[in-house]
Amino acid sequence: MIIDLRSDTVTKPTKGMMEAILNAETGDDVYKEDPTVNKLEARLAAMFNMDEGLFFPTGSMANQAAIKMHTQPGEQLICDKWAHVYNYEGGGVSFNSGVSCKLVDGDRGMITAQQVKDAINPPDFYHSPLTSLVCLENTTNKGGGACYDFDEMLQIHHVAKDNGLSLHLDGARLMNAIVAKKEDPKKYGAIFDTISICLSKGLGTPLGTVLIGNKTVMQKAMRVRKVLGGGMRQIGYMAGAGLYALDHHVERLAEDHKKAKQIAAILEAQNYVHKVEPTETNIVIFYLSEGISETKFMEDLSKLDIRISNMGQGKLRVVTHLDYTDAMHDRFLNVLSTYN
Ligand SMILES: *Cc1c(COP(=O)(O)O)cnc(C)c1O
Repeated sequence: MIIDLRSDTVTKPTKGMMEAILNAETGDDVYKEDPTVNKLEARLAAMFNMDEGLFFPTGSMANQAAIKMHTQPGEQLICDKWAHVYNYEGGGVSFNSGVSCKLVDGDRGMITAQQVKDAINPPDFYHSPLTSLVCLENTTNKGGGACYDFDEMLQIHHVAKDNGLSLHLDGARLMNAIVAKKEDPKKYGAIFDTISICLSKGLGTPLGTVLIGNKTVMQKAMRVRKVLGGGMRQIGYMAGAGLYALDHHVERLAEDHKKAKQIAAILEAQNYVHKVEPTETNIVIFYLSEGISETKFMEDLSKLDIRISNMGQGKLRVVTHLDYTDAMHDRFLNVLSTYN
Protein backbone atom coordinates (compact mmCIF):
# COMPACT_ATOMS: atom_id res chain seq x y z
CA MET A 1 0.00 0.00 0.00
CA ILE A 2 1.61 3.25 -1.19
CA ILE A 3 0.37 6.35 0.61
CA ASP A 4 0.86 9.21 -1.82
CA LEU A 5 0.27 12.58 -0.19
CA ARG A 6 2.41 14.69 -2.52
CA SER A 7 -0.60 16.26 -4.20
CA ASP A 8 -4.34 15.92 -4.78
CA THR A 9 -3.51 15.46 -8.47
CA VAL A 10 -2.36 11.84 -7.99
CA THR A 11 -5.90 10.41 -7.89
CA LYS A 12 -7.19 7.93 -10.47
CA PRO A 13 -10.77 7.91 -11.79
CA THR A 14 -13.18 5.89 -9.66
CA LYS A 15 -15.31 3.14 -11.17
CA GLY A 16 -18.30 5.48 -11.36
CA MET A 17 -16.21 8.12 -13.06
CA MET A 18 -14.87 5.57 -15.58
CA GLU A 19 -18.47 4.69 -16.46
CA ALA A 20 -19.31 8.37 -16.93
CA ILE A 21 -16.29 8.66 -19.23
CA LEU A 22 -17.30 5.62 -21.28
CA ASN A 23 -20.89 6.77 -21.58
CA ALA A 24 -20.17 10.40 -22.47
CA GLU A 25 -21.65 11.67 -25.70
CA THR A 26 -18.97 13.46 -27.72
CA GLY A 27 -18.40 15.59 -30.79
CA ASP A 28 -15.72 17.92 -32.10
CA ASP A 29 -15.27 20.56 -29.41
CA VAL A 30 -13.24 22.87 -31.65
CA TYR A 31 -16.51 23.22 -33.61
CA LYS A 32 -18.27 23.56 -30.21
CA GLU A 33 -20.16 20.37 -31.13
CA ASP A 34 -19.33 18.30 -28.09
CA PRO A 35 -22.57 18.18 -26.07
CA THR A 36 -20.88 16.98 -22.88
CA VAL A 37 -18.29 19.76 -22.93
CA ASN A 38 -21.03 22.31 -23.65
CA LYS A 39 -23.04 20.95 -20.72
CA LEU A 40 -20.09 21.11 -18.31
CA GLU A 41 -19.21 24.67 -19.35
CA ALA A 42 -22.82 25.82 -19.00
CA ARG A 43 -23.23 24.07 -15.67
CA LEU A 44 -20.18 25.71 -14.07
CA ALA A 45 -21.07 29.12 -15.50
CA ALA A 46 -24.61 28.80 -14.08
CA MET A 47 -23.32 27.61 -10.72
CA PHE A 48 -21.35 30.87 -10.40
CA ASN A 49 -24.03 32.97 -12.13
CA MET A 50 -21.70 33.89 -14.98
CA ASP A 51 -22.45 33.82 -18.70
CA GLU A 52 -20.03 31.30 -20.21
CA GLY A 53 -17.39 28.70 -19.57
CA LEU A 54 -14.57 27.25 -21.65
CA PHE A 55 -12.89 23.90 -21.07
CA PHE A 56 -9.07 23.83 -20.93
CA PRO A 57 -6.69 20.87 -20.63
CA THR A 58 -4.85 22.35 -17.62
CA GLY A 59 -5.22 24.94 -14.92
CA SER A 60 -2.05 26.68 -16.02
CA MET A 61 -3.42 27.13 -19.53
CA ALA A 62 -6.73 28.51 -18.23
CA ASN A 63 -4.90 31.03 -16.01
CA GLN A 64 -2.53 31.98 -18.82
CA ALA A 65 -5.44 32.47 -21.21
CA ALA A 66 -7.22 34.69 -18.68
CA ILE A 67 -4.08 36.79 -18.21
CA LYS A 68 -3.79 37.14 -21.98
CA MET A 69 -7.44 38.16 -22.26
CA HIS A 70 -7.10 40.86 -19.59
CA THR A 71 -3.77 42.45 -20.54
CA GLN A 72 -1.59 43.93 -23.30
CA PRO A 73 2.18 43.38 -23.61
CA GLY A 74 4.18 45.68 -21.32
CA GLU A 75 1.48 45.89 -18.69
CA GLN A 76 1.68 44.60 -15.12
CA LEU A 77 -0.44 42.36 -12.95
CA ILE A 78 -0.57 42.29 -9.17
CA CYS A 79 -0.37 38.99 -7.27
CA ASP A 80 1.00 37.49 -4.07
CA LYS A 81 4.69 36.54 -4.07
CA TRP A 82 3.66 32.88 -3.73
CA ALA A 83 1.08 32.94 -6.54
CA HIS A 84 0.90 29.90 -8.80
CA VAL A 85 0.69 32.18 -11.87
CA TYR A 86 4.08 33.64 -10.93
CA ASN A 87 5.92 30.63 -9.45
CA TYR A 88 4.60 27.51 -11.13
CA GLU A 89 3.52 28.30 -14.66
CA GLY A 90 6.96 28.30 -16.24
CA GLY A 91 7.22 32.07 -16.61
CA GLY A 92 4.14 32.01 -18.82
CA VAL A 93 3.03 35.49 -17.72
CA SER A 94 6.00 37.01 -19.54
CA PHE A 95 6.25 34.33 -22.25
CA ASN A 96 2.60 34.35 -23.31
CA SER A 97 1.47 37.85 -22.45
CA GLY A 98 4.64 39.98 -22.17
CA VAL A 99 3.40 41.07 -18.77
CA SER A 100 5.34 41.60 -15.52
CA CYS A 101 4.19 40.75 -12.01
CA LYS A 102 4.16 43.17 -9.08
CA LEU A 103 4.61 40.81 -6.17
CA VAL A 104 2.83 41.54 -2.92
CA ASP A 105 4.06 40.24 0.44
CA GLY A 106 0.80 38.65 1.57
CA ASP A 107 -0.21 36.34 4.39
CA ARG A 108 -0.09 32.63 3.41
CA GLY A 109 -0.61 33.59 -0.23
CA MET A 110 -3.46 36.01 0.47
CA ILE A 111 -3.26 39.75 -0.13
CA THR A 112 -5.37 42.63 1.19
CA ALA A 113 -7.32 45.38 -0.57
CA GLN A 114 -4.92 47.96 0.92
CA GLN A 115 -1.91 46.05 -0.48
CA VAL A 116 -3.54 45.95 -3.91
CA LYS A 117 -4.23 49.69 -3.72
CA ASP A 118 -0.60 50.38 -2.78
CA ALA A 119 0.71 48.16 -5.61
CA ILE A 120 -1.08 49.98 -8.44
CA ASN A 121 1.26 52.11 -10.54
CA PRO A 122 -0.20 55.61 -11.13
CA PRO A 123 -1.68 55.36 -14.64
CA ASP A 124 -0.40 58.79 -15.69
CA PHE A 125 3.18 57.98 -14.62
CA TYR A 126 4.32 56.63 -17.99
CA HIS A 127 7.74 55.49 -16.69
CA SER A 128 6.28 52.46 -14.96
CA PRO A 129 4.27 49.59 -16.45
CA LEU A 130 0.53 50.12 -16.63
CA THR A 131 -1.23 48.03 -14.00
CA SER A 132 -4.17 46.24 -15.59
CA LEU A 133 -4.96 43.05 -13.66
CA VAL A 134 -5.14 41.57 -10.17
CA CYS A 135 -4.83 37.79 -9.75
CA LEU A 136 -5.98 36.14 -6.52
CA GLU A 137 -5.74 32.47 -5.55
CA ASN A 138 -8.33 30.66 -3.39
CA THR A 139 -7.45 28.37 -1.74
CA THR A 140 -3.76 29.21 -1.85
CA ASN A 141 -1.39 26.42 -2.86
CA LYS A 142 1.96 27.48 -1.42
CA GLY A 143 0.06 29.19 1.41
CA GLY A 144 -1.17 25.80 2.64
CA GLY A 145 -4.76 25.74 1.42
CA ALA A 146 -5.63 29.00 3.14
CA CYS A 147 -9.02 30.54 2.31
CA TYR A 148 -9.78 34.21 1.86
CA ASP A 149 -12.41 35.99 3.92
CA PHE A 150 -15.02 36.81 1.33
CA ASP A 151 -15.17 40.40 2.53
CA GLU A 152 -11.48 40.95 1.72
CA MET A 153 -12.05 39.73 -1.85
CA LEU A 154 -15.05 42.06 -2.09
CA GLN A 155 -12.90 45.00 -0.99
CA ILE A 156 -10.25 43.99 -3.56
CA HIS A 157 -13.02 43.94 -6.18
CA HIS A 158 -13.90 47.54 -5.27
CA VAL A 159 -10.26 48.66 -5.47
CA ALA A 160 -9.90 46.92 -8.85
CA LYS A 161 -13.06 48.45 -10.29
CA ASP A 162 -12.26 51.95 -8.92
CA ASN A 163 -8.94 51.74 -10.77
CA GLY A 164 -10.13 50.12 -13.99
CA LEU A 165 -8.36 46.80 -13.31
CA SER A 166 -9.59 43.32 -14.22
CA LEU A 167 -9.82 40.71 -11.47
CA HIS A 168 -9.01 37.04 -12.07
CA LEU A 169 -9.36 34.21 -9.57
CA ASP A 170 -7.09 31.19 -9.82
CA GLY A 171 -9.60 28.76 -8.38
CA ALA A 172 -7.65 25.55 -8.81
CA ARG A 173 -9.00 24.59 -5.37
CA LEU A 174 -11.97 26.95 -5.21
CA MET A 175 -14.36 24.10 -4.40
CA ASN A 176 -12.28 23.36 -1.30
CA ALA A 177 -12.77 26.95 -0.14
CA ILE A 178 -16.49 26.93 -0.96
CA VAL A 179 -17.03 23.69 0.99
CA ALA A 180 -14.82 24.73 3.93
CA LYS A 181 -16.46 28.14 4.29
CA LYS A 182 -19.96 27.04 3.20
CA GLU A 183 -20.05 29.82 0.63
CA ASP A 184 -22.43 30.52 -2.24
CA PRO A 185 -20.54 30.23 -5.56
CA LYS A 186 -22.75 32.97 -7.05
CA LYS A 187 -21.09 35.51 -4.76
CA TYR A 188 -17.79 34.77 -6.52
CA GLY A 189 -19.35 35.22 -9.94
CA ALA A 190 -20.47 38.70 -8.92
CA ILE A 191 -17.01 40.02 -8.07
CA PHE A 192 -14.53 38.34 -10.43
CA ASP A 193 -14.14 38.93 -14.16
CA THR A 194 -12.84 35.41 -14.73
CA ILE A 195 -12.45 32.30 -12.55
CA SER A 196 -10.54 29.12 -13.36
CA ILE A 197 -11.90 25.98 -11.71
CA CYS A 198 -9.77 22.85 -11.77
CA LEU A 199 -11.40 19.45 -12.02
CA SER A 200 -8.25 17.36 -11.65
CA LYS A 201 -7.24 18.36 -8.12
CA GLY A 202 -9.60 17.53 -5.27
CA LEU A 203 -12.42 16.74 -7.68
CA GLY A 204 -10.45 13.80 -9.03
CA THR A 205 -10.73 13.86 -12.84
CA PRO A 206 -7.78 12.93 -15.08
CA LEU A 207 -7.65 16.43 -16.58
CA GLY A 208 -9.50 19.65 -17.13
CA THR A 209 -10.07 23.18 -15.93
CA VAL A 210 -13.02 25.36 -16.85
CA LEU A 211 -12.53 29.11 -17.21
CA ILE A 212 -15.75 31.02 -16.57
CA GLY A 213 -16.62 34.67 -17.12
CA ASN A 214 -19.09 37.07 -18.64
CA LYS A 215 -19.77 37.32 -22.38
CA THR A 216 -17.65 40.36 -23.22
CA VAL A 217 -14.42 39.02 -21.77
CA MET A 218 -15.06 35.40 -22.82
CA GLN A 219 -15.38 36.47 -26.48
CA LYS A 220 -11.59 36.34 -26.65
CA ALA A 221 -11.26 33.00 -24.88
CA MET A 222 -11.72 30.63 -27.85
CA ARG A 223 -9.05 32.38 -29.91
CA VAL A 224 -6.57 32.56 -27.04
CA ARG A 225 -7.11 28.88 -26.23
CA LYS A 226 -6.44 28.02 -29.89
CA VAL A 227 -3.24 30.11 -29.86
CA LEU A 228 -2.02 28.26 -26.78
CA GLY A 229 -2.73 24.93 -28.49
CA GLY A 230 -5.59 24.03 -26.17
CA GLY A 231 -8.38 23.36 -28.67
CA MET A 232 -9.37 19.72 -28.15
CA ARG A 233 -11.62 17.46 -30.19
CA GLN A 234 -13.71 14.64 -28.59
CA ILE A 235 -12.84 15.86 -25.11
CA GLY A 236 -16.38 15.21 -23.91
CA TYR A 237 -15.02 12.01 -22.36
CA MET A 238 -13.13 14.17 -19.89
CA ALA A 239 -15.99 16.65 -19.53
CA GLY A 240 -18.10 13.62 -18.58
CA ALA A 241 -15.64 12.95 -15.79
CA GLY A 242 -16.02 16.60 -14.77
CA LEU A 243 -19.82 16.41 -14.61
CA TYR A 244 -19.53 13.23 -12.57
CA ALA A 245 -17.11 14.97 -10.21
CA LEU A 246 -19.50 17.90 -9.71
CA ASP A 247 -22.24 15.42 -8.76
CA HIS A 248 -20.18 13.16 -6.52
CA HIS A 249 -16.91 14.73 -5.41
CA VAL A 250 -17.71 18.21 -4.14
CA GLU A 251 -19.40 17.61 -0.78
CA ARG A 252 -16.88 14.89 0.07
CA LEU A 253 -14.04 17.44 0.09
CA ALA A 254 -15.07 17.99 3.73
CA GLU A 255 -13.69 14.50 4.39
CA ASP A 256 -10.27 15.51 3.00
CA HIS A 257 -10.35 18.64 5.16
CA LYS A 258 -11.15 16.61 8.27
CA LYS A 259 -8.26 14.23 7.64
CA ALA A 260 -5.85 17.11 6.98
CA LYS A 261 -6.83 18.72 10.29
CA GLN A 262 -6.23 15.42 12.09
CA ILE A 263 -2.78 15.12 10.50
CA ALA A 264 -2.00 18.71 11.53
CA ALA A 265 -3.06 18.00 15.11
CA ILE A 266 -0.81 14.93 15.34
CA LEU A 267 2.13 16.84 13.84
CA GLU A 268 1.64 19.70 16.32
CA ALA A 269 2.21 17.29 19.18
CA GLN A 270 5.54 15.90 17.89
CA ASN A 271 8.95 17.01 19.15
CA TYR A 272 10.48 16.67 15.68
CA VAL A 273 8.02 19.24 14.31
CA HIS A 274 8.83 22.90 14.76
CA LYS A 275 5.68 24.45 13.37
CA VAL A 276 2.49 23.56 11.52
CA GLU A 277 0.71 26.20 9.45
CA PRO A 278 -3.00 26.72 10.17
CA THR A 279 -4.85 23.98 8.30
CA GLU A 280 -8.16 25.09 6.81
CA THR A 281 -8.64 22.72 3.88
CA ASN A 282 -6.78 19.72 2.42
CA ILE A 283 -3.17 20.97 2.58
CA VAL A 284 -0.90 20.67 5.62
CA ILE A 285 2.37 22.62 5.60
CA PHE A 286 4.85 22.01 8.39
CA TYR A 287 8.47 22.60 9.34
CA LEU A 288 10.81 20.21 11.14
CA SER A 289 12.65 21.14 14.33
CA GLU A 290 16.17 22.50 14.05
CA GLY A 291 18.78 19.84 13.29
CA ILE A 292 16.31 17.41 11.71
CA SER A 293 16.90 17.01 8.00
CA GLU A 294 13.94 17.21 5.63
CA THR A 295 15.72 14.89 3.20
CA LYS A 296 16.21 12.19 5.84
CA PHE A 297 12.65 12.57 7.12
CA MET A 298 11.27 12.15 3.61
CA GLU A 299 13.53 9.17 2.95
CA ASP A 300 12.41 7.52 6.17
CA LEU A 301 8.78 7.99 5.14
CA SER A 302 9.58 6.76 1.65
CA LYS A 303 10.96 3.51 3.07
CA LEU A 304 7.51 3.05 4.62
CA ASP A 305 5.89 3.72 1.21
CA ILE A 306 4.71 7.17 2.26
CA ARG A 307 5.29 10.10 -0.08
CA ILE A 308 5.07 13.78 0.79
CA SER A 309 6.39 16.96 -0.88
CA ASN A 310 9.29 19.26 -0.12
CA MET A 311 8.32 22.80 -1.09
CA GLY A 312 11.75 24.28 -0.32
CA GLN A 313 12.68 26.76 2.43
CA GLY A 314 12.03 24.04 4.99
CA LYS A 315 8.38 23.68 4.00
CA LEU A 316 7.05 20.13 3.90
CA ARG A 317 3.62 19.54 2.39
CA VAL A 318 0.97 16.88 2.77
CA VAL A 319 -2.19 16.96 0.63
CA THR A 320 -5.21 14.76 1.35
CA HIS A 321 -7.46 13.54 -1.46
CA LEU A 322 -10.02 11.13 -2.84
CA ASP A 323 -7.65 8.13 -3.01
CA TYR A 324 -6.35 8.58 0.55
CA THR A 325 -8.42 6.00 2.36
CA ASP A 326 -9.34 5.63 6.04
CA ALA A 327 -6.90 2.72 6.32
CA MET A 328 -4.09 4.83 4.87
CA HIS A 329 -5.03 7.64 7.23
CA ASP A 330 -4.81 5.41 10.32
CA ARG A 331 -1.47 4.08 9.19
CA PHE A 332 -0.04 7.54 8.42
CA LEU A 333 -1.17 8.99 11.77
CA ASN A 334 0.45 6.02 13.48
CA VAL A 335 3.73 6.52 11.62
CA LEU A 336 3.76 10.22 12.45
CA SER A 337 3.13 9.69 16.16
CA THR A 338 5.82 7.02 16.54
CA TYR A 339 8.52 8.56 14.30
CA ASN A 340 11.84 9.39 15.92
C1 LIG B 1 -2.51 23.06 -9.64
C2 LIG B 1 -2.74 24.50 -9.68
C3 LIG B 1 -2.96 25.16 -10.90
C4 LIG B 1 -2.99 24.47 -12.25
O1 LIG B 1 -2.09 23.50 -12.46
P1 LIG B 1 -2.08 22.54 -13.73
O2 LIG B 1 -1.15 21.49 -13.30
O3 LIG B 1 -1.59 23.34 -14.86
O4 LIG B 1 -3.46 22.04 -13.95
C5 LIG B 1 -3.18 26.50 -10.87
N1 LIG B 1 -3.20 27.18 -9.71
C6 LIG B 1 -3.03 26.60 -8.53
C7 LIG B 1 -3.11 27.40 -7.28
C8 LIG B 1 -2.78 25.23 -8.46
O5 LIG B 1 -2.60 24.65 -7.27
